[in-house]
Amino acid sequence: MNAHPKHECGIFGIFGHPNAAEITYYGLYALQHRGQESAGIVTSDGDTAPFLVHKGMGLVSQVFDESRLKKIKGHRAVGHVRYSTTGSSTITNAQPLTVDCARGQIAICHNGNLVNANVLRNELEAKGSIFQTTVDSEIVLHLLAQPDASAEDHALVSAVRRVEGAFSLLIMSNTEIIAVRDPQGFRPLCIGRLEDSYVFASETCAFDLIGAKYLRDVEPGEIVIADARGLRSIPASGPVRRKAFCIFEYVYFSRPDSVIAGRTVSEVRKRMGHELARLHPVEADIVIPVPDSGNYAAEGYAEASGIVFEQAFVRNHYIGRTFLQPTQLIRDFGVRVKLNLIKDMVKDKRVVVVDDSIVRGTTARARVVNLREAGAREVHIRVSCPPHRFACFYGIDFPDPKKLIANQMTKMEIARYLGADSIGYLDVPSMISATGLKPDHFCVACFTGDYPVPFDPRLDKLVLEQRTGRSNSLAPAENHPSLL
Ligand code: AMP
Repeated sequence: MNAHPKHECGIFGIFGHPNAAEITYYGLYALQHRGQESAGIVTSDGDTAPFLVHKGMGLVSQVFDESRLKKIKGHRAVGHVRYSTTGSSTITNAQPLTVDCARGQIAICHNGNLVNANVLRNELEAKGSIFQTTVDSEIVLHLLAQPDASAEDHALVSAVRRVEGAFSLLIMSNTEIIAVRDPQGFRPLCIGRLEDSYVFASETCAFDLIGAKYLRDVEPGEIVIADARGLRSIPASGPVRRKAFCIFEYVYFSRPDSVIAGRTVSEVRKRMGHELARLHPVEADIVIPVPDSGNYAAEGYAEASGIVFEQAFVRNHYIGRTFLQPTQLIRDFGVRVKLNLIKDMVKDKRVVVVDDSIVRGTTARARVVNLREAGAREVHIRVSCPPHRFACFYGIDFPDPKKLIANQMTKMEIARYLGADSIGYLDVPSMISATGLKPDHFCVACFTGDYPVPFDPRLDKLVLEQRTGRSNSLAPAENHPSLL
């Protein structure tokens, strides 16, 4: 039913809790919006005890039940929810991925997209690596597992240095859980505390559900290690990279109740609505959101414009994934089943409809048809981000640019195609200013085509060091002088 299956993922980890699996289950539950294709949890009791794994296709609530959770007992766990469109929505590609190698057992969860995956995979395969999945995350696992990758205490750092692109990772070994964010910090990852244990999650909404305290975000380029001694951090060093947090996390992806870089997402969305009202004012009778994605921006638009806010679209929250595919008998069934319009609210009114984004234009077009049929006098579309004109290579699934309506049409043409009286998008500076952060904090490539990390990167010339021995620890030694 989802117009755009999400390529995003959600990751969660906990170190040092007797009910690690259960807590991870709840954490993933809160992160379900980041991926609905598969879910998985791997637990460990440390030392040589084998990792316990359960993964399955579907929602967290479908994949796990009480008896399954009981079978994966352990004091630490990592978990993942995934949705991908790359023709590989199979159980084999479900995460966490695990391997038992010379370094011991390793499990990995990845959110993001590596831009040099092909190069690295070819190279690893040429050296004899056998891949079991078609996901780029497995490359990191192979790099970590390589017995001769480097001196033992370099395993993680050298692996992380070789991958390019977007990666928020949780890596579990026999002795620790390690959280890593790429040097640009494309995707979110935060740290929390639950009683005596440390927790990691893509978004803070996961901490709220389990009653954990949000400590801070993992910094771009930072490596945070939770082990029996507590928590330690290896701050980013090495070549200075510009930050490139995905602004679309604020616009659409993250949950409104999450806090990213100290800003609550719903607040940022409201301010985007304020900016939108300032940039594109219009005489109208009511402001309505396209729920749920347009809710907060519409509220902001109404607040700043003084126009009455109404919830005219009613969302059906109970559309399961097993729902029958749109029937031919009813026109626009697929979009109608999700939202219904309260016709009396819009009849003879001049309506401002606010949504977070227009990708292909299918949703917006169907909404305008609904509004016209219900007798709306004028329909003005307002969008709380700029026009999407470029593909994302860092983990968000935007279609082929030819399918992005703003790549193919001017704003005037889009308004005509959608059947709207006017259309107004936020511009890049106003979108950024709504976050209260600086422009160099963000990746806005899907709007501007200015890609912070090239997707045909140079080959890494790293000379691999000889392996000096087996170690369960992937983390660099604390006293190592040149870790990054
Ligand atoms: P459309 O213009 O019909 O292609 O869809 C636009 C709607 O899809 C927006 O209102 C968003 O709420 C939602 N959306 C935007 N980007 C994505 C994405 N990458 N994955 C899933 N949904 C998205």
